[in-house]
Amino acid sequence: MSMFDLTGKTAIITGGNGGIGLAMARALAGANCALSIWGRNPEKTQQAAASLRSVTSSRVYSVSCDVTDRAAVEQAFAGTVQEFGRIDGCFINAGVGGGGRSSFLDRPFDEWKSMFEINLDGAFHALQLAARHMVANAKAGRPGGRLVATSSIGALFGAARNEHYGASKAGLVGLMRALAVELARYGITANTILPGYTITEMTEQLMANEKFQNAVLPRLPMRRFGKAEDFGGIAVYLMSDASGYHTADNFVIDGGYTAC
Ligand code: NDP
Repeated sequence: MSMFDLTGKTAIITGGNGGIGLAMARALAGANCALSIWGRNPEKTQQAAASLRSVTSSRVYSVSCDVTDRAAVEQAFAGTVQEFGRIDGCFINAGVGGGGRSSFLDRPFDEWKSMFEINLDGAFHALQLAARHMVANAKAGRPGGRLVATSSIGALFGAARNEHYGASKAGLVGLMRALAVELARYGITANTILPGYTITEMTEQLMANEKFQNAVLPRLPMRRFGKAEDFGGIAVYLMSDASGYHTADNFVIDGGYTAC
């Protein structure tokens, strides 16, 4: 399976210390990709890095970094470049959910802004640094690079009481498609993953709720919620040589939820 062997490649995963990000990191490490995982919580991030090191001989670097803080993102990015020299992939995965508790009619503007600050502005900072790095490499004769963002099926269907989340995730889709077109000439691909209902720290309470299960599972063709591990394969594919011509796509991984 040499097409999916990532030996010699390096990737950043923001929000890589838990949930979907850590599962993507595990799969990438299993394919021999060197990793830089970022998270807000320093202990959680260090523990996640230690857990990755126990299953891979690839290098694992970890940084605690709040993606809303431009200076911190610049520092984390510079530290990663110093560690690895070259960044081949950047997974923009850090994000927060909306909770779905209050109506749009009552949404405080601060809540709206905070959602965008993390889910979209945070993506801007890391993506801009990664894109600059990859374009500079391309201009120096070393083209290529992979930009990947974790959006949500909330970008596609109406998630009542969660319009701020849906809007921030829809923004990511537009952002990535624009980058795909602008950066293709440098051999850089830009794609978006749209997970459906997936059991992680963000959602475990909701998904353990019987009323929620009764409402959602009968409408979910696979009859189960997603697991973080369901996102490992797509991460490896998007980092691999197999996906070199695959750009500007939206990968909906939702057990068929949005198809019916
Ligand atoms: P988790 O809560 O397990 O993971 C969220 C990750 O984002 C954590 O690593 C967290 O780090 C990090 N993070 C949050 N805010 C910041 C910040 N300001 N700066 C840096 N890192 C931050 O949830 P998931 O794994 O489910 O979420 C991963 C992505 O998947 C998110 O973008 C989410 O919106 C998306 N998604 C999830 C779905 C689901 O059903 N679970 C469905 C659709 C999309 P820390 O803990 O250190 O703060």
